[in-house]
Amino acid sequence: MKKNVDVCIVGGGMVGATLACALAKNSDLSILLVEAFPVNESRASASGEIQTSYDARSTALSRGTAEIFHQLGCWTLMRAQAEPIIDITVSEKGGFGASYLSAMDQGVPALGYVIENASLGNVLINQLFQYSNIQVQSPAKVAAISFQTDGVSVTIEGEHQSRDVLTKLIIAADGQDSELRAMLGIDVAYTDYGQKAIIANVSPDRQHQGLANERFTENGPLALLPLNNNRYSLVWSLECQAAEETMALSDNDFMEKLQLQFGHRVGQFIKVGERYSYPLQLMRAKEQIRPRVVLVGNAAHTLHPVAGQGFNVAARDVAVLAADIKQAYRSHHPIDNFDVLQGYWNKRRLDQEKTIQFSDNLLRLFSSESDVLRVARNVGLIGLDVWGLGKDIFSKHAMGAAHHVSVL
Ligand SMILES: Cc1cc2nc3c(=O)[nH]c(=O)nc-3n(C[C@H](O)[C@H](O)[C@H](O)COP(=O)(O)OP(=O)(O)OC[C@H]3O[C@@H](n4cnc5c(N)ncnc54)[C@H](O)[C@@H]3O)c2cc1C
Repeated sequence: MKKNVDVCIVGGGMVGATLACALAKNSDLSILLVEAFPVNESRASASGEIQTSYDARSTALSRGTAEIFHQLGCWTLMRAQAEPIIDITVSEKGGFGASYLSAMDQGVPALGYVIENASLGNVLINQLFQYSNIQVQSPAKVAAISFQTDGVSVTIEGEHQSRDVLTKLIIAADGQDSELRAMLGIDVAYTDYGQKAIIANVSPDRQHQGLANERFTENGPLALLPLNNNRYSLVWSLECQAAEETMALSDNDFMEKLQLQFGHRVGQFIKVGERYSYPLQLMRAKEQIRPRVVLVGNAAHTLHPVAGQGFNVAARDVAVLAADIKQAYRSHHPIDNFDVLQGYWNKRRLDQEKTIQFSDNLLRLFSSESDVLRVARNVGLIGLDVWGLGKDIFSKHAMGAAHHVSVL
């Protein structure tokens, strides 16, 4: 006999796992999480491979996201491994403008927090296994789906066997190249930035004191985010060819090239960890909801990492989605009624739109060689610093406080 569940989430990365915990907390909903990578409580993989979401990257969590993890009961453990962002400086190499945002001016203890994805993953995956109403099936993938009058029939292929499940809702959280999205025939809109992001952890010879640096150079935008143990997490976006050349440099030559971009404002770089590169695109699914279907996280929208918004906007999405589904469930309203999903989408579309525009505009403004834009962005940076209003909007985006975060 087919097993029945309320919600089937496909993909247990940062977004899928957060959604599963948010749905499970204080509810009797039965949740099935299907993850392609072998997941267990210890997260150790026999093959030594690393699950995409919890790889060598670090993530800048906004205050809003920290609040969501607090509500999920994960924050104390995450906070112990996260570094607070006390100040942010935004500058342009060769430009005369620079902007400073400080936690003190905003009246908050930190503007955000930076955590290694592997640490975040350890806490999140552990949390998944604390809920008796979450069942994790991994390594496994969805082989087929068919829509029935009473739910979606899902054929799940595991390592040794396949099985069928009937779910009221199916949620695609299987990343940028979502197989479930393709199976549903949902089209996407792509903007290829023709760039790759190089990421690495670098150590300076002086204390970073919680200062995050966003620097726009003729070689692409760079972000140095403060990490624990006095390291910086570097995200350096470069044209593809330049990225490949930079990846091929020796550690010393790489640090020298990096130093040239920053001067000595953050001290001397003395150590660099392993480097990885990621192609950069803006990808948006043309539909995020359908009857019984929702797309979340990278499966729904993949952003350029320059403004550190991809996961933060997805965390706001899943907090609202979980709250709406649980609200329907508690008031005995069918959770698979399309008005629940429509209500979620109505609440989330504006924030998503603004966040995507913010990230995209920031990159385009600073990537342009036009003299007018060069002056505008310098004035813009000074304006951001002096005029208050622009600065306030920027810091609200950085902190993730521009939008109300739903209580779970
Ligand atoms: C260099 C870089 C830096 C970034 N920095 C930040 C930042 O500072 N702040 C921020 O907010 N965001 C940042 N982001 C964005 C952030 O990483 C993404 O928003 C986030 O990873 C999206 O998570 P996800 O769970 O949707 O997708 P993914 O991380 O891609 O996870 C997808 C999951 O689905 C699983 N899966 C894949 N296919 C299947 C399948 N067929 N069946 C079942 N499971 C499947 C995968 O194994 C994985 O576990 C950054 C991105 C990059 C590239």
